[in-house]
Amino acid sequence: MAGQGSSSLREANTTLVVQQLRVAGPTSRAELARRTGLSKQTVSTIVASLLADGVVRELGRGDPEPGGGRPATRLEYAADRAFVAGVELGVGRTRVVLADALGSTVEPVDLEVRRSGRTPEVVVDRVCTALQELLRRRGGLRRLRAVGISVTGLVQPATGTCVLAPNLGWRDVPVAELVGRRLRSVPVVVRGAAQCSMVAEHREGVAVGEDDVVLLFEDEGVGAAVVERGRLLDGADGTAGELGHCAWPGATERCGCGRRGCVETLASGPAVRRAVERATGHRVRRRTGEPTFVALADVDDPAVAAAAGEAGQVLGTAASWLVALTSPRLLVLSGSLVPGPAALRTSLEEAVRSREIGGHRTRIEAGALGADAAVRGAVLLALDEARAG
Ligand SMILES: [Zn+2]
Repeated sequence: MAGQGSSSLREANTTLVVQQLRVAGPTSRAELARRTGLSKQTVSTIVASLLADGVVRELGRGDPEPGGGRPATRLEYAADRAFVAGVELGVGRTRVVLADALGSTVEPVDLEVRRSGRTPEVVVDRVCTALQELLRRRGGLRRLRAVGISVTGLVQPATGTCVLAPNLGWRDVPVAELVGRRLRSVPVVVRGAAQCSMVAEHREGVAVGEDDVVLLFEDEGVGAAVVERGRLLDGADGTAGELGHCAWPGATERCGCGRRGCVETLASGPAVRRAVERATGHRVRRRTGEPTFVALADVDDPAVAAAAGEAGQVLGTAASWLVALTSPRLLVLSGSLVPGPAALRTSLEEAVRSREIGGHRTRIEAGALGADAAVRGAVLLALDEARAG
């Protein structure tokens, strides 16, 4: 805990220094120390890391210091001179967010990509063109330090390859390689949408300060992510968390992954949509790109409540396997589960509760970042990558 305490203190002090620079304009290190009340040594250490990150830059020397000392080098806030990007390749939406060197959003862009034309080549081309356009007015691609990409599918982080994304129709797509090639070899990090959402919720959302967390994610398919002792669980090749493709006993429906009877065939948005359509004989209407659970959230219909309740029961039971295995303090509901039908959430919670054992009680909460969690996580991963580089 001592480590965490000193790192959050360093973060608070860094914020103080950056705020001062943003408000006061070019300032010397000595003046920064006076204005923030921090020691000169502390300010020097913080400034060194801000210089390395591209958040501040050095200007020429200013006026002589009071008392006749030689003029000091002044520092200027420059986070808008170095950028990172977060990209969300979701089932219904494709988004690019440009952020400054501190991670603050500079400009988000939603891209229209027709479902029929969503080949890897087309999507990568649209994303890279959008990024080039965003950077054109801001100094060009050379200012881009790293790109983080969230994909709704199974991703191998070491290679940045999307192994399987049934709902995008992708298999073995070298996402990092394709994007890196287009963007002059800028570092690219790729993770699954559940993992990205977890990163964001854990650092900035509902799971801040929690060391043991499970996150359930839905975007026309089901995924999960686990934080254990404060660290994202990767497994042997970074693909841990594929709860949606665990087998549900007795289920036989074919899944997008090519096998039969996956949890996803019973508990995803499309599964609920099929059940509602079977029960009512009518198609479920959705806006373009709208997740099924969002479309069904406010539909007052017993068929929707029944189908969502059954899906929630399956999803909650599957979640209880993860809860039993990892004993988390917090279970976060993310993606389109958050605004989803009330019956889904109620039966999901009941299923988790009914399987709890030994007095352990897991808090169940909606993610604080809502549908923005995945792309925010991608931005944070890009920041990590930029800093590591
Ligand atoms: Zn499957």
